[in-house]
Amino acid sequence: EQAQVITIDGPSGAGKGTICQLLAAKLGWNLLDSGAIYRVLALAALHHNVELDNEDALALLAAHLDVQFQPSDEGVRVVLEGEVVSSEIRSQECANAASKVAALPRVREALLRRQRAFRQEPGLIADGRDMGTVVFPEAEAKIFLTASAEERAERRYAQLKEKGYDVSIDRLLGEIRERDDRDANRKVAPLKPATDALEIDTTGMNIDQVLDSVLAHVVASL
Ligand code: C5P
Repeated sequence: EQAQVITIDGPSGAGKGTICQLLAAKLGWNLLDSGAIYRVLALAALHHNVELDNEDALALLAAHLDVQFQPSDEGVRVVLEGEVVSSEIRSQECANAASKVAALPRVREALLRRQRAFRQEPGLIADGRDMGTVVFPEAEAKIFLTASAEERAERRYAQLKEKGYDVSIDRLLGEIRERDDRDANRKVAPLKPATDALEIDTTGMNIDQVLDSVLAHVVASL
């Protein structure tokens, strides 16, 4: 008997991160932020001067990636080769690099076991693009969160603005569209809802409303 899993997939900026954190806190379950693993791998590649299309080297790097996720008061602390990289991996540069390395089949393969190891009692909330389709196809509850690209760009803009970054919303929208396109059209594990996932379009919804819909589905599924 393995621990139960709830998968939450969807494009960037759909609110998965926030919803998964709230859900994990509410249930007292473990949390897998799979995007962070791809971001850390991309950062490791940049540090080690590995080209972002060198599949052999990246798969090797992925298999030996020295990363730790440590719970702390300010959320999860991400440590790569002994260095705290929690904020660094949130940059747009890392996001774009992550979506490039994530398109390589052997990189994804090399990270499968590492992701599945997060499945521990009392349960796991898995956040990503292919949690319900590839990594945990037998999950007890699956959700696919979406929102219009415009709304996702606006949410991202508000987040960055709050942190004091001055960015152009048009540029954010362009980057979101480019990343969606790459994630949805890659050959392995493309971004798409599992056939048994509940799709929730969060455009125009606030966090509480999204959390309520997600909880209703979880309660009905477990
Ligand atoms: O979710 P986040 O924006 O942190 O993910 C960064 C990138 O990592 C995504 O754009 C996607 O290309 C990749 N990713 C993935 N599969 C996952 C999670 C993230 O391909 N399960």
